[in-house]
Amino acid sequence: MPVPTFLRIAVPSPLRRSFDYLPPKGVDIDTLQAGQRVRIPFGRQVQIGVILAIRHESDIEPKRLRHVLGVLDQTPVLTEELLALLQWASDYYHQPIGEMLANALPVLLRKGQPAQARAEVRWQLTASGSTASATELQRAPKQAALFTQLRHAHPLPLSAPDFAAQHTHWRPPLRALIERGWVEKRLLYGLSTSNGTVEDPLPVNSEQQAAIEAITARAGEFACFLLDGVTGSGKTEVYLGVIAEILRQGKQALVLVPEISLTPQTVARFQRRFACPIAILHSGLSDRERLDAWLAAAANEAGIVIGTRSALFTPLAQPGVIIIDEEHDTSFKQQDGVRYHARDVAILRARRLGIPIVLGSATPALESLLNVEQGRYQSLKLSVRATGAALPPIQTIDLRGQPLLHGLSKTLTDTLRAHLARGEQALLFLNRRGYAPTLCCHDCGWLADCPRCDARLTFHAGHQRLRCHHCGTEQVLMPSCPDCGSTALRALGQGTERIEEALAEMFPAVGVIRIDRDSTRRKGAMQTMLDSIHSGEKQLLVGTQMLAKGHHFPSVTLVGILDADQGLFGADFRASERMAQLIIQVAGRAGRADKPGQVLLQTYHPEHPLLRSLLTEGYAAFAAQALRERREAELPPYTAMAILRAEATDRDRPLGFLSKAYELASGLADASVELLGPLPAPMERRAGRFRAQLLLQAPQRGPLQHLLTAWLPALDELAEGRKVRWSIDVDPADTL
Ligand code: ADP
Ligand code: ZN
Ligand code: ZN
Repeated sequence: MPVPTFLRIAVPSPLRRSFDYLPPKGVDIDTLQAGQRVRIPFGRQVQIGVILAIRHESDIEPKRLRHVLGVLDQTPVLTEELLALLQWASDYYHQPIGEMLANALPVLLRKGQPAQARAEVRWQLTASGSTASATELQRAPKQAALFTQLRHAHPLPLSAPDFAAQHTHWRPPLRALIERGWVEKRLLYGLSTSNGTVEDPLPVNSEQQAAIEAITARAGEFACFLLDGVTGSGKTEVYLGVIAEILRQGKQALVLVPEISLTPQTVARFQRRFACPIAILHSGLSDRERLDAWLAAAANEAGIVIGTRSALFTPLAQPGVIIIDEEHDTSFKQQDGVRYHARDVAILRARRLGIPIVLGSATPALESLLNVEQGRYQSLKLSVRATGAALPPIQTIDLRGQPLLHGLSKTLTDTLRAHLARGEQALLFLNRRGYAPTLCCHDCGWLADCPRCDARLTFHAGHQRLRCHHCGTEQVLMPSCPDCGSTALRALGQGTERIEEALAEMFPAVGVIRIDRDSTRRKGAMQTMLDSIHSGEKQLLVGTQMLAKGHHFPSVTLVGILDADQGLFGADFRASERMAQLIIQVAGRAGRADKPGQVLLQTYHPEHPLLRSLLTEGYAAFAAQALRERREAELPPYTAMAILRAEATDRDRPLGFLSKAYELASGLADASVELLGPLPAPMERRAGRFRAQLLLQAPQRGPLQHLLTAWLPALDELAEGRKVRWSIDVDPADTL
């Protein structure tokens, strides 16, 4: 009697489990492997799943199991390494394994398309072929002729038309050369490559050199480095130096960046420096291009893979190093759908692969700094700007009692005028897009609220519309007050659009450019705007945090921060950390080249202790103080945190579900796990749904994980849970 075989399969579904199936009829069991995609009956539908394991037992009676309908892949699309990583992430973040896997796969693979690239077939000499001599082929003149042609082209590979142009019946001798081990097939994936010319590296300074050496010395083993370098210190140059060595060893580099479309300059630097094909996974790729890039990385055809968060799950044939640029950036945390932190999972991936990982930032996350303090990460410091430029001093402007014109103090306006008069560029930062955050009736006090959220609608003058920045609701600007009919509607407060308008009025002779999510929506818009800044055509820049992301504007000498107070009293415990990072990053755009920079920061709270330590002693001192406060308040990174969130169109249901969840947890939890709530979310109503949350905290991860493992399956069973939308967020990026 043959041993029964079952396939454990991950199916994209919100259910927190995998499913057992019988092997497909008439398929040889020995051809099946974990990581292959299969078509399966699921409920009344046919779904694409991934084999997690081949087993000889099942908790379900074989009679009740269904057969897999078909196997889609001959070889696994997910390697053992990635499967194990995704399984770990699914367990740690308590996200359904099927969704975790689906999130990692390119869309076309998710939809069941074949895992085949649109690659071009070429042939080239192997290492032994390149040192061989045609005299060995005297008795095979056809092979000799083909060999000579390949030799001339070496190291470039040749295509079928190349051979056909010079030989008839070239396939048999080519096959013979392949059998001899002199020639190999190559697949070209249409990745971006430099056009043969490669830029020389800059001569690095001693700190950069020390960082490159420290990292490359650990090639081939796990080590986590925090490259803590001030803005403009040449971190990118360190990445490039490390990657050059990794490529020399025949290995690949995986680079994660916050947002590729916003920093075309950085990507261009990689392309100019290396001759190898680079897979760039940006949001503008078609599904087809994304799949090709993914397969190229898996086939070792891409020496470098650069992408945002989800590129973390790209298969690598010869992994050599992982680099996380701007590691503090919140975009590495996926907030909806499957929740996970790409930086943290990347560290685990590096550990399992036994390769170094580099986290780079001028403003490291408090988590990362604590890890350095506790000896888990090695800190590498770049303390000066690579160009020799000085870091700009930050001066505060006390707004109390000062007259403001469009949100600008006189000091800021005067300084701005002086810089512009010298022909220099200036950047004004305001993290609020739109014209004004509030529209108000001057006669009756009516305010334009979002009908679906506990929030105000933002007035966008360009489109003459009111828009909710939380749910996307849009209304055409009304001609008069809906309550009293008055036409005296006033825009209160400032957004980037309004500042742009005010600046254009104040400085009619210089061009103003606005960079925010609205102005950069069109494809290529960002690049066009960056070009007009680099060419000097525009002298004044106003924008949101998009401006803070790694740009290098050599002629910007003045940075004005219009409102530093948003972060000081934010509802979330990370608000001040985010504010400090933004201030330092934005300030870091000033004076990066030969002319010295200056930063002016407007605040109503110049004596706020965190702001003071940031401005007088710098980010490291701020971070040390912020960490002390976190420890005293028993908050992450000194504690482990998770949030159970629930929402529904009815106000009571989320709280009802969370109360039940609370009861269940109290029965299961170790005394060290603290349960806070349930409470309505700080913004209770969003997009027509009422939201509530239950916060879980423990001094150690162990007991919290233990509770989650027992608790979540119980929550899945709760009747109250079916009437709400709920989710678990482990290591939440915010508590909002
Ligand atoms: P970061 O990523 O730390 O903000 P970059 O790597 O973008 O810094 O470097 C900032 C600027 O300094 C760039 O214009 C870069 O070309 C230049 N740079 C980097 N390293 C050196 C060096 N060793 N010597 C001279 N200039 C350098
Ligand atoms: Zn009114
Ligand atoms: Zn809304």
